[in-house]
Amino acid sequence: MGVDWIVVGAGFTGATFAERMATAGRRVLIVDRRAHIGGNAHDETNAHGILVHRYGPHIFHTNSEAVWRYLGKFTEWRAYEHHVLALIEGKLVPIPFNLDSLAALLSKKAAARIESALINQYGFGKRVPILKLRTSEQPDIRDFADYVYRNVFEGYTLKQWQLRPEELSASVTARVPISISRDARYFQDNFQAIPLHGYAEMFRRMLEHPNIAVALDYDWKRSMVKGRHTRVLFTGAIDEFLDYRFGPLPYRSIRFEERTLQKIQHQPVGTINYPNDYNFTRITEQKIITSQRAAVTTLITEFPRSHEPGRTIAYYPIPRDDNRLLYGKYAAAVKAEFPDVCFAGRLADYQYYDMDQACARALKLASELGGPARLEARP
Ligand SMILES: Cc1cc2nc3c(=O)[nH]c(=O)nc-3n(C[C@H](O)[C@H](O)[C@H](O)COP(=O)(O)OP(=O)(O)OC[C@H]3O[C@@H](n4cnc5c(N)ncnc54)[C@H](O)[C@@H]3O)c2cc1C
Repeated sequence: MGVDWIVVGAGFTGATFAERMATAGRRVLIVDRRAHIGGNAHDETNAHGILVHRYGPHIFHTNSEAVWRYLGKFTEWRAYEHHVLALIEGKLVPIPFNLDSLAALLSKKAAARIESALINQYGFGKRVPILKLRTSEQPDIRDFADYVYRNVFEGYTLKQWQLRPEELSASVTARVPISISRDARYFQDNFQAIPLHGYAEMFRRMLEHPNIAVALDYDWKRSMVKGRHTRVLFTGAIDEFLDYRFGPLPYRSIRFEERTLQKIQHQPVGTINYPNDYNFTRITEQKIITSQRAAVTTLITEFPRSHEPGRTIAYYPIPRDDNRLLYGKYAAAVKAEFPDVCFAGRLADYQYYDMDQACARALKLASELGGPARLEARP
């Protein structure tokens, strides 16, 4: 069949765009080189019957009502608020580091003194990035910030990125600020949930449209851009698209190790971080995130590693100014040479997106390119 759009990549970006264009009456072919749809949000049941997030734990959270309503057309939700603890000096303390973490690690007197200094300086309930806290004029706060920096941020960042926190864009450490409160939730967004029947099922419903054809195990190449009748949305890696012409864009990869224990529950919370010990960063217990009931439980341990194009999966763009400049060269080249190809998504934009951001980006792009002006009511 003739198609109006070829969408390369069936993750959040590609699937959202494909669904919107199909609903607007366009014929869409969506391809992915993997054997499944859903991109990095894919989930599947393992040999022990536990639903696992194949590419690392994925917790949906957003403040965007538009994204929440849009995805709600394809899934029911199970409310879930993520909690994280970190092993520090032999104790498990809440992350983001908050007033309870402070109380768990310092003497009663010292914790009370720093707590009131923080509240006086920033106000109860505020969230302050660690690098900002380290520049405080108050010696007490500065000393405290140095302690948290050393014990919570430095080791974790070195393991995750092989860089020190100040060598990365400030946005990275700002993602997990110090919380001057007792709110132990990892995310503060208005909507926090997991698709009731899993991500794979949600994606299946998104792409189940008479105007959409799906081709899996299908590696799309630049040479396939022919003629001007079919438009292309490319959500793969922009450097790969141009055969790494200016050199590869740096990424971090991860090795996931999965083990299943013959017990109902192993951890007190969904994820435990190990900032200072071992060579892995965190362990997540899948069942806690999905609320699945089973006699066994599966743990996923994350070992960060360097990325080798073609051999490992590119997970995290490394947010540094020099990398952004390199990305700019690729963006300028594709704009000049491939004006009919659109680029969007975490690999094409070389930008870390949460799932809701990838979805929002695709919704906006679709509405600019002839997709439906507004969201239809749920049948
Ligand atoms: C470990 C980890 C944990 C995360 N946890 C969360 C979380 O808790 N909450 C959250 O909101 N976000 C989380 N994210 C982010 C989330 O994974 C992304 O927001 C989302 O995957 C972005 O979707 P995308 O479509 O842009 O990219 P992807 O999901 O990467 O999809 C791109 C697709 O394109 C395909 N592709 C690429 N090139 C080609 C080609 N040439 N031919 C055919 N197919 C191609 C790929 O196979 C892939 O399936 C996490 C990310 C990681 C790495």
